[in-house]
Amino acid sequence: MAHTKPTYLNFDDKNYAWKPDIDYRVEPFTYRVGKGEQGVLICEPYKTEIGQYWRFKTKEIADKSSKKIYALFMKYVKDDDFVGADMARKYLQMGYTRARRYANYKGGKKYDANNNYAMLEKGTGDLEKAASADIFTNIGSWLKRMNYTPNAKRIGKMKGVKKENLPHKLCVTCGRPFTWRKKWEKVWQEVKYCSEKCKRQKTK
Ligand SMILES: [Zn+2]
Repeated sequence: MAHTKPTYLNFDDKNYAWKPDIDYRVEPFTYRVGKGEQGVLICEPYKTEIGQYWRFKTKEIADKSSKKIYALFMKYVKDDDFVGADMARKYLQMGYTRARRYANYKGGKKYDANNNYAMLEKGTGDLEKAASADIFTNIGSWLKRMNYTPNAKRIGKMKGVKKENLPHKLCVTCGRPFTWRKKWEKVWQEVKYCSEKCKRQKTK
């Protein structure tokens, strides 16, 4: 019987939309919502901020973890940090999918690397992980209750974002911080100077 090999075998990181060297808090426009949990283990500083709390070894640990990440999610929403909110959502979702995999397969391994990546037998996993997975599924109803959906349009548009929460950079000429402006919406990644004056002074 033919089988599909795991997608990570031909993972193309060059063309992957999520990059490890981007600070997504500084450059939120480069973030893409994508499908499912895409980019969740890559996008900094959120990967570090949220990932440190992401645990599902036992039901109690999963309970603590999901509550902490949910609190982070709420904080990001409050701060108009929609990339953070979307990343927290992905971690919560992944709490379910990963714990389920450990519940179904011994060691969470779905494919046998020593046998041409054949699918391993299901039902060999740790049943306690099923309880962990159930805890993370609650996030679905939490998000429904607060009517949250990841909104790719809102991410990057900075609509309604408080000034202090807007991205900022340091000017290459004068070294002072400057804040994102609407006119830089499409070119923010390339912006280096706070003003025309500083841009002119670069050659001096
Ligand atoms: Zn300047």
